[in-house]
Amino acid sequence: MVDSEDGHPGKSVAMDSERLAGRVARAALHDTHCMLCEHRCGTNRAAGELGRCKAGTEARVFRHRVEYGEEPQLVPSHLFYLSGCDLRCAFCIAEEKAFDPRIGTLLDADFLNAAVAWGRKRGARNLQWVGGEPTIHLPAILRALAGCPDPPPLVWKSDFHFTPEALALLDGVVDVHVADFKFGNDACAERIAGVPRYCAIVGRNLVAAAAGPADLIVRHLLLPGHHECCFRPVAHWLAANLPGVPFSIRDGYLPRWQAQHHPDLALPLPADAGLRARREAVMLGLAVVG
Ligand code: SF4
Repeated sequence: MVDSEDGHPGKSVAMDSERLAGRVARAALHDTHCMLCEHRCGTNRAAGELGRCKAGTEARVFRHRVEYGEEPQLVPSHLFYLSGCDLRCAFCIAEEKAFDPRIGTLLDADFLNAAVAWGRKRGARNLQWVGGEPTIHLPAILRALAGCPDPPPLVWKSDFHFTPEALALLDGVVDVHVADFKFGNDACAERIAGVPRYCAIVGRNLVAAAAGPADLIVRHLLLPGHHECCFRPVAHWLAANLPGVPFSIRDGYLPRWQAQHHPDLALPLPADAGLRARREAVMLGLAVVG
């Protein structure tokens, strides 16, 4: 599903400059009345108001590098880490950088063109937007892309807490969605990431993304003590709703940032957690990758 014949991940859905300009204009409406994520703040970010994510109209990149730890279909991948997020996951490995959108180098077309050339020289197959959460910076990302004449295939790694309006802006722009399906129930999501209605929102967005033009990979980071409450419901939901979608089970959990304040998250992941989860996923008929 993901590898195309020319070896690039996913079909290229790159759009022409006129359509992209239209997308930039539509996205800019969120600068003055932001509905990009399901917090639906309605914030006028252009006037200096701050919503839950605290982002303004600029996006900043606190790190970019070519990495090999992603799913095999994607690597080597050139990851652009944007500061700022709409969630507050207690175990976030990016720690404060994920939550302060003022950290990093301003993302504009000059920066992006130079960085893309740098990544190409190092063999990157694609450009991957990560965070924090890239969706909160969608208008700024589209503006930068509009000034990038030859972008690589685009991967959108997201918490999938975005609105249908945001997904519509991404359709035809990104080649691959990588969805972080973090929690298998609303209580864990509310306690650990500070968001209500998590499962309904992420489930709705996964179904919509799977029906769209981009490829979809679903990722789940195993959390210590969350096999029954999070991994298993995620796996069963996928088996019932999107059984053919590549499912990437990640077992590299580290108790970072605020994890020590949560007795469950302060523990290391059991050594056999990855094997146990992969076996269960395969038994459910899921397309386990990685
Ligand atoms: S991206 Fe979400 S949290 Fe940030 S201002 Fe917009 S609606 Fe609010």
